[in-house]
Amino acid sequence: MSKASHAGIRAAEEIRHLGYDGSLRFLSEEAELPYERPPLSTEFLLGQIDSAALSMPQSDIAELMLDIGAIELDTRNHLLTLSDGSSLTFDGLVIATGARPRTMPDEERAHDAFTLYTLGEAQALRLELQREPRVVIIGAGLTGLEVASSCRTIGLGTTPVELLSTPLGRVLDEELGQRVAGLARAHGVNLITGRTAVRSCAPGPFERRTVPAR
Ligand SMILES: Cc1cc2nc3c(=O)[nH]c(=O)nc-3n(C[C@H](O)[C@H](O)[C@H](O)COP(=O)(O)OP(=O)(O)OC[C@H]3O[C@@H](n4cnc5c(N)ncnc54)[C@H](O)[C@@H]3O)c2cc1C
Repeated sequence: MSKASHAGIRAAEEIRHLGYDGSLRFLSEEAELPYERPPLSTEFLLGQIDSAALSMPQSDIAELMLDIGAIELDTRNHLLTLSDGSSLTFDGLVIATGARPRTMPDEERAHDAFTLYTLGEAQALRLELQREPRVVIIGAGLTGLEVASSCRTIGLGTTPVELLSTPLGRVLDEELGQRVAGLARAHGVNLITGRTAVRSCAPGPFERRTVPAR
């Protein structure tokens, strides 16, 4: 299963496995211990498990430095500047910073617009779903479809808007993608494909948001 900071933790394990027994620091801007991300869009979102169930087994392979970001890298002097103003020197550096979700280009964040990547974001979305909103999802890839499935599981109306002609279009061919689309629609998902979400209109918190499609 994939985890938050999976690449960083696995790199640290492999460095130890190769025989390095010197100082090894694992830096993360997230405050939580490394955790499993996949349930954030499924069991955790549905309230079937809590955050304790997401934690990866504790490991003493590296000194964990949590809730602190790396903000500047000086490769010439092997120096990393951290968000608290301190700095670290290093002999070797692994950059395993993952990929954040893309947001709407002109989006002003409102109470009812969410991205889903971190545990904190999943907690906020989980709370919001308890208000029984109608949910528009930008992107019908794996995560978008899992959120749609979770919404349907608890009886919420949901509309994923997907740029490509089929869901999961980056990993499945057209035929398989059409089958997934049919399956989603059969379960009550109002899937829109071949459309780009270009703008979000948010007059204020808790008011209706629309995603014009074309
Ligand atoms: C909701 C959801 C469901 C998913 N479901 C699946 C699934 O079912 N199957 C699957 O295979 N994959 C799934 N994934 C994808 C999987 O979680 C990722 O592929 C995996 O997390 C990638 O690991 P990574 O270590 O490369 O990056 P990440 O997990 O993104 O870890 C990078 C870490 O670096 C930290 N960081 C970034 N910049 C800085 C900085 N400047 N200073 C300090 N720290 C920094 C980040 O905060 C983060 O903790 C899912 C992802 C999400 C969000």
